[in-house]
Amino acid sequence: MKVLWLQSGGCGGCTQSLLCSEPRSLFDELRDAGIEFVWHPALSEASGGEALAVLEACTSGELAFDVLCVEGAMLRGPNGSGRFHLMAGNGRPLTEWVTRLAGHAKWVFAIGSCTAYGGFSANTPGNPLEACGLQYDEQTPGGLLGADFRSAGGLPVVNIAGCPTHPGWIVESLQKLALEGMADTDLDELGRPLFYAGELVHHGCPRNEYYEFKASAEKQSDLGCLMENLGCKGTQAHADCNLRAWNGSGSCLRGGFACIACTEPGFESPGHAFQETPKVAGIPIGLPSDMPKAWFVALAALSKSATPKRVRDNAVVDHLVLRPAIKKKGGGK
Ligand code: SF4
Ligand code: SF4
Repeated sequence: MKVLWLQSGGCGGCTQSLLCSEPRSLFDELRDAGIEFVWHPALSEASGGEALAVLEACTSGELAFDVLCVEGAMLRGPNGSGRFHLMAGNGRPLTEWVTRLAGHAKWVFAIGSCTAYGGFSANTPGNPLEACGLQYDEQTPGGLLGADFRSAGGLPVVNIAGCPTHPGWIVESLQKLALEGMADTDLDELGRPLFYAGELVHHGCPRNEYYEFKASAEKQSDLGCLMENLGCKGTQAHADCNLRAWNGSGSCLRGGFACIACTEPGFESPGHAFQETPKVAGIPIGLPSDMPKAWFVALAALSKSATPKRVRDNAVVDHLVLRPAIKKKGGGK
């Protein structure tokens, strides 16, 4: 399976993330699934005229490829001309290249939240870049290719959202396509592969016990749950970050940072500081996706009244101060 990769209005961080693929090296993993790059701007030797020749051959149909991966937002400005981002050495807008190449690809992948939904470029006040995603403007279908776009393989754009996206999400999506194929039913309502977007970041978070008892961190570095005071959106963010390790063992939560829901459209402009939880009458506005507000309020009150001292005390310090008790046989202390 041949993969062609282009970069546009992004930071390149998704390619950097891809290179951290593990436990096996990226290239071993792809090779064993019969996947190879036709061209990638950061990984291929061909550059300048040679690279342009490859792209021209792909747009003319002379050089066949299977998957078009695009990394970065589509910059349609100024005035819809796309001339804010011209292909180096060629002078044609990247939006034009992407549109033409998408017409030849069997499948089109949006790599990262920029490409999926518009990302930071689209969330600049007033969006002077006229940035958008491949098939979405934030959560509204449309974008550069239009809501009705289907690639030759019959799928809409596959949105491998995340900022950056996890290397495993890219590699596993490519492998799935190469080895068993992909159908509409493998994607969620926002075009994300369900194998990772069918989970919530909250699943597997090491702070789950604090969440259950609503034992909340009050300041950065505290061990408690980050939802009530420090902006965590793990209960609303679709991704398996705490089940699928980043860089061997990590995740934002494991590093002490609240989840900012970077797999969701529009996460870049939450309307408040990322590390703060907006509240009304002391109740967080962003409640868990599946939970009615009244239930949450009732459960939170019940949980707080039953919080063990160990959990309550450990939640507001940066190192454990109380260990779990050891129960002795016979009920003695
Ligand atoms: S999604 Fe994030 S990491 Fe990826 S290119 Fe865009 S800004 Fe960079
Ligand atoms: S810190 Fe966030 S992800 Fe972790 S348990 Fe609390 S709400 Fe869930």
